[in-house]
Amino acid sequence: SRTLAFLGLGAMGWPMAAQLARHTKETGGRTLVWNRTQAKADAHAREFGSEAAALPEVAAADVIFSCLPTSAEVDEVLTALGGQLRAGTVWVDCTSGQPEAARRQAAGLAGRGVAFLDAPVSGGPGGAAAGNLTVMVGGATAVLERVRADLAFAAKVVHVGDVGAGFAVKAINNTLMAVNMWAAGEGLAVLARTGVDLHAALDVINASSGRSYPTETLIPQRVLTREFPVTFQLGLLAKDAGIAAEVVQDARASAPVLVQVAALYRGAAHSIGAEADYSAVLKLVEQMNGTEIK
Ligand code: NDP
Repeated sequence: SRTLAFLGLGAMGWPMAAQLARHTKETGGRTLVWNRTQAKADAHAREFGSEAAALPEVAAADVIFSCLPTSAEVDEVLTALGGQLRAGTVWVDCTSGQPEAARRQAAGLAGRGVAFLDAPVSGGPGGAAAGNLTVMVGGATAVLERVRADLAFAAKVVHVGDVGAGFAVKAINNTLMAVNMWAAGEGLAVLARTGVDLHAALDVINASSGRSYPTETLIPQRVLTREFPVTFQLGLLAKDAGIAAEVVQDARASAPVLVQVAALYRGAAHSIGAEADYSAVLKLVEQMNGTEIK
């Protein structure tokens, strides 16, 4: 029977690992969970029937998933696991990581017979809980086929290229969303200053060509309501835009808007707080305009 392991039970990892536990219960396998703060793994086991495990125990799994803040924490866990990984294991990193780190980690693991896929996800904690995340996969197609049936948290899985390509696509995707949010915030702050009702403005923009995920969903649900519920930390989105800027640089590409937005989000994370929700980036736009988007 198949043993899956999941490392990192944060906002994303918790519901993703719950999907794995449900899947292995149906298929007669096991799901091991590890978290730096062990109480979370114990609570996960009680709630979903996963098994809390120590780091050396997860090394015996057929597939090891990770979902940590950045590639740096993945490096730490890889170092802690040291030589304990077994040949034949597949490591699926669902962190939104750096392409260059993925290539380095994959090369290091290959020496021990462990295959690596970068498999970042989109859809948020809600999508993970519903089992309908989108996954963008970098790595060998033959390796993806070995684990495709295990991706119980996904509704759509797209192979986008060699190791690192998944992280590159994820960084660009999130940066496009960041551009849309920032631009929508600027537009709405301008309209607020001219005295237009922003509910009416969004109503018509969302039936027009300026609409986007932020105008249709994020701004109405999180900004106009002044709730800014934390599902995805602003500091993590600033990290993603920073990765996109690195991808731009490595590709010797010219993408001034993407690079600019990385700087804006980094500044917002410093000024508003890295642990705020990503929608709170618009508080900086509000400060810059002496108005509120409400
Ligand atoms: P969280 O901050 O909610 O969770 C972070 C997890 O990483 C926790 O389990 C935490 O453990 C663990 N961790 C932190 N530092 C270390 C360390 N040094 N060693 C071991 N474990 C560590 O983050 P998210 O779940 O929101 O994000 C995880 C990844 O997924 C990020 O790359 C993010 O960009 C990406 N992502 C997030 C989405 C979202 O909507 N939130 C959507 C799509 C992708 P502990 O409990 O001990 O603190």
